[in-house]
Amino acid sequence: MSNLNSLSIHELHKRLVSGEITALDLTKEAIENCKSDSCNCLEATCYEEALKKAKSITEVKEDEILKGIPYLAKDNYSTKGVETTASSNILNGYVPLFDATVISKLNRRGMILIGKTSMDELAMGGTGTTSHKGATLNPYDKERISGGSSSGSAVSIALGMVPFTLGSDTGDSVRKPASYNQVVGFKPTWGRVSRYGLFPFAPSLDCPSYFTRNVLDSAYILSAIAGHDEKDMSSSRRKKDVYEKFVKHHRTLPKVGYFKAVKDSIPSSKVRRAFDDLLKKIEKAGYQVIAYDYPIELLNALYPTYMIISCAEATSNNANLDGIRFGPKPQGDIKTYSEYMLEARTAGFSDLIKRRFVIGSFSLLSENVYEMFSRAQKARRMIVDNLNKFFDKADYFITPASFSKPKKINELSAAWSKTSDFLENIMTLANFGGNPSITLPLGEEDSLPFGVNITGRIFEDGSLFAFASDVEKITGIKDVTVRCR
Ligand code: GLN
Repeated sequence: MSNLNSLSIHELHKRLVSGEITALDLTKEAIENCKSDSCNCLEATCYEEALKKAKSITEVKEDEILKGIPYLAKDNYSTKGVETTASSNILNGYVPLFDATVISKLNRRGMILIGKTSMDELAMGGTGTTSHKGATLNPYDKERISGGSSSGSAVSIALGMVPFTLGSDTGDSVRKPASYNQVVGFKPTWGRVSRYGLFPFAPSLDCPSYFTRNVLDSAYILSAIAGHDEKDMSSSRRKKDVYEKFVKHHRTLPKVGYFKAVKDSIPSSKVRRAFDDLLKKIEKAGYQVIAYDYPIELLNALYPTYMIISCAEATSNNANLDGIRFGPKPQGDIKTYSEYMLEARTAGFSDLIKRRFVIGSFSLLSENVYEMFSRAQKARRMIVDNLNKFFDKADYFITPASFSKPKKINELSAAWSKTSDFLENIMTLANFGGNPSITLPLGEEDSLPFGVNITGRIFEDGSLFAFASDVEKITGIKDVTVRCR
């Protein structure tokens, strides 16, 4: 059976303009795709509204690239009238009264929201197993994790449900699952896209981010959602670009660098060979490839620094979730507001969340704040200063996006990681620095995909797309969907 939604935005747009297909055809099919979801990708749906909007679209013009295209959004974006829980019990029953800025921009361009995707609770975690509705399954092997936290968005696009899905990225939550699901995952420069209406996890790191099936589609989306927003003081006033032009006119920069320590410690021979091979081909394509000595002690600092900063911000941002207007209602003899909150929060959050709030609160206690939070802030400064030194020598940073196969769900351990594995956390670099960063498919190991990640200088999102599109040509992997339903 043909599935139009497995095509790219670019391709669908051509067909919509010519009149060969209609927005209604696409929407009806996307709804059917969602109904046959076998990987637990969805949190909520809005089929009726979607059909109504699709029916109202009778014509798509050449310059209306996103009009009539169905999409799904991670469940941590506010969507007016559609229940939004961030896959957490504490938000059960919450129906927002407004749309996130990203959602309203996409809707204004004529995109059609079909529903909301499952995620690791409140965007914390990287496995896609901590949603209150259970694990999102990896479509390449349902016994394995899909990666998170934007798990449902990664899997639904990989399955060909829709050609575009919104996610969010605080540490690597779009770029790691993109790697496991053979799709393109992009995190823009911090501040390039408004965060208004995106539930905050760690706002100094959070970025509205997303999945497409190729680089050009990713550029189209950024052109639509970038720009200053009165409702988000931290959104940049810099003029935005027309990002697809960088891809179409091949506006790249010449130097690509990798970290020696990363390349030397890739555990999987398959990933190592694919990465080496890619670097050779990049060189052959005319780029200069540079090996860089990024300080190992700062690589080892990535994980603890990320944990302290993100948990501290998370505990403070989620302090408003008191269970009063939505979430689990405490039973029994509750006398005070504190007792109520204690009960509601105990029932409303999973263990992972509670653990992170404990770390965050502990690091912010007045007796610890200097030793923990302030030190983490200083470490972040050093990590970013050294990344900027790298960018004095090279224009793009390249690394494998995942280093081993996604774990089996039943082999996951709840134990706190004691090792600071810099490979697992390498992509947090782009969140610390606010840099644009993109993951593309690179290869497969035992039929399980893995990707390559490229990071650029801040506000050079356009040139990042241009280079990424060259890499896409080199790998020859794009517009992939997995045949499993
Ligand atoms: N895996 C990281 C974490 O657990 C990233 C989460 C994210 O980017 N939202 O915090």
